[in-house]
Amino acid sequence: MMWDHQREETLRHALCEAGRHMCRHGLAVGSDGNVSARLDEHHILITPSGVNKGNMRPEHLLVVDLEGEVHRADGPARRPSSEMPMHLEVYRLRPDVGAVIHAHPPMAIACTLAGISLARPVLPEVIYHFGAIPTAPYASPGTPEGAAAIRELIREHDAILLDRHGSLTVGRDVAQALVRLEWVEHVAKILLAAHACGPVDELPPEAVQRLQEQRQRAQGKG
Ligand SMILES: [Zn+2]
Repeated sequence: MMWDHQREETLRHALCEAGRHMCRHGLAVGSDGNVSARLDEHHILITPSGVNKGNMRPEHLLVVDLEGEVHRADGPARRPSSEMPMHLEVYRLRPDVGAVIHAHPPMAIACTLAGISLARPVLPEVIYHFGAIPTAPYASPGTPEGAAAIRELIREHDAILLDRHGSLTVGRDVAQALVRLEWVEHVAKILLAAHACGPVDELPPEAVQRLQEQRQRAQGKG
């Protein structure tokens, strides 16, 4: 992967746009949430700590290496996001990932509080697009505990919930990580509405298996 000036500029703008989108759609509030993108094998761009994602500017983003050392910080905020260890863990474990978004989608967080699992096979789109959306155990927000909490699940999943805290979605690029975040919140809204009305049944095992086969074929694995 080549890291050139043009690529860096494009990614800086894409990450700012993702931040604005998250705030506009209520998926993060103020300085909540953080976004990052891979520049090359050893470096990423990541949001600084304490900056409002609704009006972040391209120069605010920091260049850090996969050990977390800051290489460039041109904006007023010089410290990377407190959730940086979680982002770095993803880039180290998943060479296929080009972007990571951590957000605070309210309905998805409500599901973790109410014990409504997005990992149960109830919606065909979830099985087809994600396999499942599991929930990582609680970790204190903004501490290195977050990296340990997601370590096992993020190897196999592109979207996970963080218990009582938020979401983590990944993608080949910023757009894919963002649409996966939108999916997570969309699914959470459906499940909250359904659970408010009564018991929610799982799909029959044959239907689940067929969806998993379709998913594997779509990924070129079947
Ligand atoms: Zn958070």
